[in-house]
Amino acid sequence: MKSLNKKDLLEYKKQLVNLRKELSSQTKKDLKDGMESVRDDLKDIDDFAQNENDIDIWAIGNNQKHEVLIKIENALTKIENKTYGFCELCNQKINDARLKTIPYTELCINCKEKEEQSKDESATLYPPLEDLKENNDEEEPSEETLE
Ligand SMILES: [Zn+2]
Repeated sequence: MKSLNKKDLLEYKKQLVNLRKELSSQTKKDLKDGMESVRDDLKDIDDFAQNENDIDIWAIGNNQKHEVLIKIENALTKIENKTYGFCELCNQKINDARLKTIPYTELCINCKEKEEQSKDESATLYPPLEDLKENNDEEEPSEETLE
């Protein structure tokens, strides 16, 4: 598996570190200021969106920030391990444009689309809870679980 070149990695690393800094300072501010910070936060997002059109991280909700921070940490670890830039599901190289837009992404565009499709399907195709219970009753416990 061929890793990204050093120059690109450094560039992504810089971007990730900056994002992490901004996100964690905002998260800390939220904790300190409580609910009142939400309005200020939105104002900050607006200001940022005008200056940094290439990254839409400022459009994400407060409750998603923690999740993104974890992804940023993972991405930084992957840069250290030289496994950054590859899809976690199919191991294909993630498109440069995608990495530049979402440097903390874990999936290539194909897998991401599949993931979103399967989410849609599970929302519409799964039977109601009652039906699900009946189906489960027919299934015997797997022998694999009995060591
Ligand atoms: Zn993939």
